[in-house]
Amino acid sequence: MGMTLFDSPSFANHEGVHAFFDEKTGLKAIVAVHSTARGPACGGTRMWNYASSAEALEDVLRLSKGMSYKNAVADLEMGGGKSVIIGDSRTQKTPELFQAFGRAVDQLGGVYYAAEDVGVSVDDIAQARKVTPYVLGLNDGPEASGDPSPVTAEGVYRATLAVARRLWKQDDLTGLTVAVQGIGHVGGYLADKLAKAGARLVMTDVNTALLAEVAARTNAEIVAPDAIYDVKADIYAPCALGATLNPQTLDRLTVKAVVGAANNQLATPDIGETLFQRGVLYAPDYVVNGGGIINVASELRARQMGGAYDAAWVESKLARLMETFDEVLDRSASENRPTHQIADAIAEARIKAAAEQKQDARKAA
Ligand code: NAD
Repeated sequence: MGMTLFDSPSFANHEGVHAFFDEKTGLKAIVAVHSTARGPACGGTRMWNYASSAEALEDVLRLSKGMSYKNAVADLEMGGGKSVIIGDSRTQKTPELFQAFGRAVDQLGGVYYAAEDVGVSVDDIAQARKVTPYVLGLNDGPEASGDPSPVTAEGVYRATLAVARRLWKQDDLTGLTVAVQGIGHVGGYLADKLAKAGARLVMTDVNTALLAEVAARTNAEIVAPDAIYDVKADIYAPCALGATLNPQTLDRLTVKAVVGAANNQLATPDIGETLFQRGVLYAPDYVVNGGGIINVASELRARQMGGAYDAAWVESKLARLMETFDEVLDRSASENRPTHQIADAIAEARIKAAAEQKQDARKAA
């Protein structure tokens, strides 16, 4: 039985959903624009071998709404959108495919900006850039924002410090053990910062060569991938996969807090409620990993202002993000509600306020 678009639960009041096909390259892409209330919809492009177009549609709708929330909590003048290209990123990538994708994005006239995501590299985006200005996350040019991972790691690190201040009343991480899952781009930078702040690290990764290297320089203990959930630690830092907070792992974790970079850490929202009931402080993933999108947003801003990459602006937005994180923790305590629900409420209120402002402006015109 086929799913219909408008009554799918994932439709969630999307402003636009655009399907693109290019006969010559075989491009099949969907661009979902959830909200432009706060500005042009921005979100990455995922290339994935979806089993069906219904599955691709479901994924792009879910991710696009998520970008509205992430961009709003980061207080960026950007709305939420996302795109998917249906195909195998290892075997079906060509420059022509991404140029065709670029032409598709260009047709939307700036309502949506694309960037890298799973299966899509800087080189792919550079191909799209040949035919449209509506892409972000480039490596060349004065406004290029480059690798967002260091900024993402800095945000997760500051959130970890904020949590230590609340739970252990200390300004550094001395005496605390952090279990780090995944020491790739973000996890690697994060591990360095945590170690420097005095934390004892226990870490894992499936890339054993990289793991040995990062563990050596951070004095970390290494455990097998599946053993990370059983580590006697104070903080769990998921920086690899999504959905690692699930019914299976929940009973194994003994940490007092979860602060990590991975997207979609809660397998289902009710896991967030269980964590809250058990007194585990969950730092909402899309709040604390917002440094990455802030860095990407700086590229759009530089383009709009005709300027160059502005590290001071990125820093000011990161500081603002940490204020919002503090607000999430304050309200979670005072309203006795799980942190992920508070984060959603803040995002929804900001999107609603922007939509109302836009409507008022339209009426006045
Ligand atoms: P990455 O691919 O560089 O690093 C992920 C690491 O996890 C790799 O080293 C990989 O070997 C490891 N890994 C994979 N499966 C594992 C397993 N089962 N157990 C342990 N380790 C495993 O990715 P990244 O850019 O560092 O991103 C990490 C997470 O943070 C992802 O969920 C990503 O979506 C999210 N995120 C990243 C950014 C960013 O700026 N890069 C921004 C926001 C969110």
